[in-house]
Amino acid sequence: VPMSDVDAKAARAEDRAHLFYSWSAQRDLDPPLVSGASGVHFWDAEGRRYLDFASQFVHVNIGHQHPKVIAAIREQAERLCTIGPSMGVDVRARAARLIAEHAPAGMSRVFFTNGGTEAIEHATRMARRMTGRPKLLAAYRSYHGSTTTSMHLSGDPRRWPSDTGAAGVARFFGPYLYRTVFHARDEAEECARALAHLDEVVRLEGPETIAAIVLESVVGTNGILVPPDGYLAGVRAICDRYGIVYIADEVMSGFGRTGKWFAVDHWDVVPDLICFAKGVNSGYVPLGGIVIGPRVAEFFQDTPYPGGLTYSGHPLACAAAVGAITAMDDEGIVDNALRLGAEVLGPGLRELADKHPCVGDVRGLGAFWALELVADRATREPLGTAAMAAVAAACKERGLWPMAVANRIHVVPPCVTGDADARAGLAVLDAALTTADSHPSS
Ligand code: PLP
Repeated sequence: VPMSDVDAKAARAEDRAHLFYSWSAQRDLDPPLVSGASGVHFWDAEGRRYLDFASQFVHVNIGHQHPKVIAAIREQAERLCTIGPSMGVDVRARAARLIAEHAPAGMSRVFFTNGGTEAIEHATRMARRMTGRPKLLAAYRSYHGSTTTSMHLSGDPRRWPSDTGAAGVARFFGPYLYRTVFHARDEAEECARALAHLDEVVRLEGPETIAAIVLESVVGTNGILVPPDGYLAGVRAICDRYGIVYIADEVMSGFGRTGKWFAVDHWDVVPDLICFAKGVNSGYVPLGGIVIGPRVAEFFQDTPYPGGLTYSGHPLACAAAVGAITAMDDEGIVDNALRLGAEVLGPGLRELADKHPCVGDVRGLGAFWALELVADRATREPLGTAAMAAVAAACKERGLWPMAVANRIHVVPPCVTGDADARAGLAVLDAALTTADSHPSS
């Protein structure tokens, strides 16, 4: 139901006068005024309806307004809205158990935060406290959040304005065959060389100075970079060799996004800590946290953990997690993401690549894909900003909400997306890409 013109006008005026938006200069913003959402769609006050191929911030894995999650929040709100983090409460314990049950074997304890960035802050604090070592290693192509430590860990240019250069972070290159820095010719070579490089970085930085390696299991915002087979196992081995804590950042890749509960499950790798947020309850109420493996859990059996949050394990957020995880299990939503990637999104995106010269690379799995767009296939020169903006605008005109990042379109719909909606979205992309096929690089 569209809002009335008067209501929409008033809401827009309040928004422009009072709201301060993330990551943006404030003057010329013109965000859609969203008035509702359901499943894989949302719509604005003027009644324009969009197929959500971004899952908002790649977080609405279960789709919008899932009735079982809404019911779980409502029931919890009527029973107990809030209680301090030092109290026991059934819904918090149940959320922790459900998360642990879906995590790799042996990872059985959960610390709750309010989102992804806090999970990274606390995971790195645990690692530093446990090892007594100061430094952290992170990949150049990464995003880990926007508070102090997580922002410094992020390899992405969003770090630059906030980088004090004093955060104790050293960097390495992860595997990325399409733009290999290792001069590799195939995935196996990229994997071997990326691991040799990481081992050398560790040795030159000084293994006894490194508390943790922080790594997205599948790199998200920096390009949907799926690691080659053997890479994550190799990282695990390097951490074991030098007594380094392996922190897997699964804030974006976790809870079904890749077609498994956690992306590490594709390769049967068990990290020491897994950071999660987003898909754990699809953001119906803010929630993040850390799944803790036995080594770290054991350390804090007798050593106090120096950290906490007033809203750690908020009952409404935990109720939403219980509702979401239960519904994802009951409705086969994680399997749907796996199947959707293998049968519809992967083949469909490869067809677009065959057809459109502007597509340089296609990669992904589950409901987690990227089209990397280029001005020239031979040189792989990235498609320019104006051409990218035109592709994004062409999608929106046709009712598809895209996720455009740098020279890429990330195709990251909710994990519940059905084949017909996925195909409809691919058809819009097909039309939109035509605008970029013979586009200059500016
Ligand atoms: N880590 C990864 C891999 C992310 O993609 C994000 C957010 O996009 C974060 C951490 C930060 O999470 P949040 O925005 O919930 O703080």
